[in-house]
Amino acid sequence: MYINKLNTHIIPFKFEYHAPKSVEEAVELLSRYGEEASILAGGTDLLVKMKQRVIEPKHIIDIKRIKDLTGIREEEDGIHIGAATKLRTLERSKLIEEKLPVLHEAVITMGSVQIRNMATIGGNLCNASPSADAATPLLALNAEAKIVGSEGERIIPLEEFFIGPGKTALKPDEMLAEVISPYLPENAGTSFMKIGWTDFDIATVNLAVILKLEGEVVDECRIALGGCAPTPIRVHKAEEFLRGKKLTDEVLEEAANIVSGHVRPRARWRRAPPEYRRAVSRALTIDALTIARKRIEGLEVNRGED
Ligand SMILES: Cc1cc2nc3c(=O)[nH]c(=O)nc-3n(C[C@H](O)[C@H](O)[C@H](O)COP(=O)(O)OP(=O)(O)OC[C@H]3O[C@@H](n4cnc5c(N)ncnc54)[C@H](O)[C@@H]3O)c2cc1C
Repeated sequence: MYINKLNTHIIPFKFEYHAPKSVEEAVELLSRYGEEASILAGGTDLLVKMKQRVIEPKHIIDIKRIKDLTGIREEEDGIHIGAATKLRTLERSKLIEEKLPVLHEAVITMGSVQIRNMATIGGNLCNASPSADAATPLLALNAEAKIVGSEGERIIPLEEFFIGPGKTALKPDEMLAEVISPYLPENAGTSFMKIGWTDFDIATVNLAVILKLEGEVVDECRIALGGCAPTPIRVHKAEEFLRGKKLTDEVLEEAANIVSGHVRPRARWRRAPPEYRRAVSRALTIDALTIARKRIEGLEVNRGED
């Protein structure tokens, strides 16, 4: 049978729809139906895959009515973001803009307003695209994933959450409940950069940087890279290389070389070849570190400048 994979408007198979009102109810449904079930949050990834018959879940568990899964809270250990919180809510949150500017900078690049009004932060992470735009800033922030399932609750570093393209550490009876992001180190500068096919598209390559200087010397630097490996990754080697160094042109170049050396070609890479990703990740590293430093120095950053 011919399936139009580009512009299909119907979901051509039957499924049962469930709309739990609590996390417990959702977990109970997940335990009952296991791998036959898919969670529906905003549906901006899931429904596309269902229309294209990439997946054909027999049970859809819609989590939109679960109040406990939405909202942004300031706690002692950081900012807690409910998994079903819409990207548009994050975009409009002063708290996110002020306390987690690197996440805010990423969110405002994601899709269109219409997409951000539907799409959730949890959906972006659980879809586990190697270039998911919320993943890199959250990895750089050392964020954690709070997971709930039939055996209770567990919290893991986001770095352990992504295990392959489209694959997460979630078991069939588990769901993501919350993302917990620690606060930024004091006086840190941040930057998120992305190159995609169009302005409204997911990144081909993205990169998030958090930089802290002690005088002119790097005290701490965190670099997360997306679209260049089977999962979004932290580039610890470049972070270690930068520690204790001044950000001279030579040091920036060497750090960028280390980052681009982490591009690991995949068998199925449709958007761009590895050489392109190497060149882009190199350029984005230099730009992101330069912008983060300018922000620490309180200098205006004009991304349109030459
Ligand atoms: C036109 C368009 C533009 C886009 N642009 C971008 C972009 O610029 N950057 C980008 O990164 N992405 C982009 N996307 C992809 C998508 O919008 C995002 O990944 C979005 O955040 C997904 O969230 P959602 O709530 O719609 O997820 P859904 O589609 O509802 O779910 C995605 C996956 O996660 C699972 N899931 C959802 N929530 C949970 C949970 N709490 N626990 C366990 N599993 C869960 C679902 O079962 C499904 O497998 C775009 C998509 C479209 C259609």
